[in-house]
Amino acid sequence: MKTTGIAVIGAGPAGIAAALAAAEAGASITVIDENSAVGGQLRWRIAPLRGLDEALDGLPACRAAETLRERLATAGVSVLAGTVAWGLFEDGSLAVAAPGGGFRLRAEKIVVATGAVDLVLPFSGWTLPGVMTARAAQVMLHLHRVLPGRRVAVIGEGRDAAELVTDLETAGAEVVLRAADPAQVVASGEGRVEQVSVNGEQREANAVVIALGRQPDPELALQAQVDLGYSARLGCHLPLRNELLETSRPGLYVAGEAAGAVDLAESFAEGRLAGLAAAGASPERITTAQEKLARARSPERSADADRLRPWASDRAQTETDASSPWTSWVRAATAEGRDNSLDRVALCRCEQVTIGEVRQAIEEGALTINDIKRRTRAGMGLCQGIFCTRAMALLLHAERGIPLSEIVPMTERPPARPIPLASLVEIEE
Ligand SMILES: Cc1cc2nc3c(=O)[nH]c(=O)nc-3n(C[C@H](O)[C@H](O)[C@H](O)COP(=O)(O)OP(=O)(O)OC[C@H]3O[C@@H](n4cnc5c(N)ncnc54)[C@H](O)[C@@H]3O)c2cc1C
Repeated sequence: MKTTGIAVIGAGPAGIAAALAAAEAGASITVIDENSAVGGQLRWRIAPLRGLDEALDGLPACRAAETLRERLATAGVSVLAGTVAWGLFEDGSLAVAAPGGGFRLRAEKIVVATGAVDLVLPFSGWTLPGVMTARAAQVMLHLHRVLPGRRVAVIGEGRDAAELVTDLETAGAEVVLRAADPAQVVASGEGRVEQVSVNGEQREANAVVIALGRQPDPELALQAQVDLGYSARLGCHLPLRNELLETSRPGLYVAGEAAGAVDLAESFAEGRLAGLAAAGASPERITTAQEKLARARSPERSADADRLRPWASDRAQTETDASSPWTSWVRAATAEGRDNSLDRVALCRCEQVTIGEVRQAIEEGALTINDIKRRTRAGMGLCQGIFCTRAMALLLHAERGIPLSEIVPMTERPPARPIPLASLVEIEE
């Protein structure tokens, strides 16, 4: 088994900041990222950075990613790119799939900085080729220099959707339709998207992009069974952390969007604090990092982080804040009779389980996401529930009246990502 002082999973702003801070404090560090280069979401963004540090200020995000890569090299951090950490086991070891084969890694401390995933809610035609998330569209545009489509419909509102529309139009695509609510959208075509309609208004289109926002992806920490609390702001459960960003499992830290951070500055500041704490830095440095993090956080976010509570003691925190953006989707998905065209739509596209089948399972007694999974196979496929558990929780809430804060997330099991069998066979002991 390989060993390292601190393993940082994810080389976005939070993971890089954690590694650089821990290196300053003299620790030996291994950073693991599934992408071919470090930078996380910085790699494909061209907007200038603000508020991280002076040397990065004003640089396009993708340039800043290169500067940060150089800083990691100068600091002597070992970076494993194109490498997935797919398991975090009870003995504290990580399972890793690298291009050259699989191995296990034991670290004295672990920082999970795995970012967020794009939120998706199913609508008619969402499994057709040509339908994608905002991040997929941005990666196509900026990293592969490919237009997702010439005529594009965009679902979602807010900052990410606005940035996406600007980027699509700058690259020469025409945004032919916008929709706030996925339940109003129908995509159709022979074998791929050819038309899209929103509330009956139809346009020819060859791509539909879902820009509904993001949700934290702390899956490795969930595999380690850390204590969780419910975030009403995000409508999901997050690892509970102390003032050093350490979870209930000693030596396991979560930082950045994986823990609910909202932007770059907060992710960076969280990463720095987690890295210093993991490396056992001096109290002065820790205090300075905590102050910087407090300044980076918006008042709403600070309030949310403070409100995060274990769900058992959290009954007062009702479901309403979180369910409001999704209310019309839930109403459409649970409507009875002929109006409910969503019943035949796949909720879990990996296992082809429909919304109607999930509702049926709930009607027959399923009370948890795990139970729906056992009865229908929803969430058992390639994406491991990344794209469907939010919809399952909303249906459980709507059909059974269970507060979202009490709907326990699906049990996370390795592998966190699909991995080649070879990386299991070649595992080194
Ligand atoms: C469309 C869009 C627009 C945005 N606009 C802004 C903006 O204008 N201003 C702003 O401040 N912020 C913006 N953000 C948010 C900002 O990019 C994020 O807050 C920041 O990147 C979060 O950093 P992070 O390190 O937590 O996560 P990420 O940058 O997502 O990095 C996480 C990394 O971990 C990797 N990873 C995940 N799981 C594993 C695993 N098991 N094994 C190996 N690697 C793994 C991921 O592939 C990724 O490289 C935007 C984001 C998006 C998507």
